[in-house]
Amino acid sequence: MSVGTLTEPLAPGVHRIAVPTPFAVGEVNCYLLTGDPLTLIDTGPNSGTGLDHLERALAEHGRRVEDLELVVLTHQHMDHEGLLEILERRSGAEVAALAALAPWLADYRASARADDAYAQAVMRRNGIPQDINTLLGVLSAGLHSYGSAGTVTRPLEDGDRITMGGREYSVHHRPGHSPSDIVLFDADRGLLFGGDHLLGHISSNALVSRPLDGRLEGPRPTPLIDYGRSLRATAQMSARLVATGHGEAISDPATLVDTRLRDQERRARKILSLITEQPRTAHEVAQQMWGEIAIKQAYLTLSEVLGHLDLLLAAGTAGEIEADGVTRFLAV
Ligand SMILES: [Zn+2]
Repeated sequence: MSVGTLTEPLAPGVHRIAVPTPFAVGEVNCYLLTGDPLTLIDTGPNSGTGLDHLERALAEHGRRVEDLELVVLTHQHMDHEGLLEILERRSGAEVAALAALAPWLADYRASARADDAYAQAVMRRNGIPQDINTLLGVLSAGLHSYGSAGTVTRPLEDGDRITMGGREYSVHHRPGHSPSDIVLFDADRGLLFGGDHLLGHISSNALVSRPLDGRLEGPRPTPLIDYGRSLRATAQMSARLVATGHGEAISDPATLVDTRLRDQERRARKILSLITEQPRTAHEVAQQMWGEIAIKQAYLTLSEVLGHLDLLLAAGTAGEIEADGVTRFLAV
């Protein structure tokens, strides 16, 4: 089945618009939902190329940015929300996103800086050398301009309903990939807008992210555990088609969820064997698993390892020890 080209709707009135990004993930999928209110799901990154592309795609459907009546964000990542400020200003559209994301978006620059500071602390605690840490901090700060601030006028909670493009969708909070992930479900059509919650061609990563409420005391976030819970909930939904944030739509999400969960178990076993050999920091585990990539993609690989270590800690097969502000993990 061929789905999601500019000319061929994914479902009646649902058009995929693939917008280029400067990131390794490649294009991001936005969705134009014709009907009342005229709705755009996700915006693409804040770049001239992204805006150009979006405007041309809208024009192919006989629309302009100014016509948009509702912009819905699936989550907080800049490839999905970066053009929000511009679209909001030009269209006056309502903006819907998870309610807890509203303050984060309202002061985007400060939020992005605080997220970076949080990531730096996570990297230090988990054994990433300071020179790499500093470099990654500089690189990350250089990317902030691909995101943007915005004003959420339709704050969404889990269980809410929202009308997009003439049809009603239920809203479900699905934290894991980010704390603010939502999916939007049209049960009659079995159509789910999934953002990056579930992707077909790559497994979505559960990044270690600063909690949205900014609270830093209390237990640390366990994104992969949250993500597993979210995936199991999605598998129960009887969705027949998932419109994803990257790549092609998914036609059998329940089977894909099974595959993803099995892959997690396999990876957790591999990590358990590495910390059985000797206690290791999460970064050392990442280097054992991925070599050079653990340096180039230090935060991503660190998040992967920490997520799976959380599974082992929860299962009681791993423990952690702390010395000089650095955490090491060991088999118990
Ligand atoms: Zn994302």
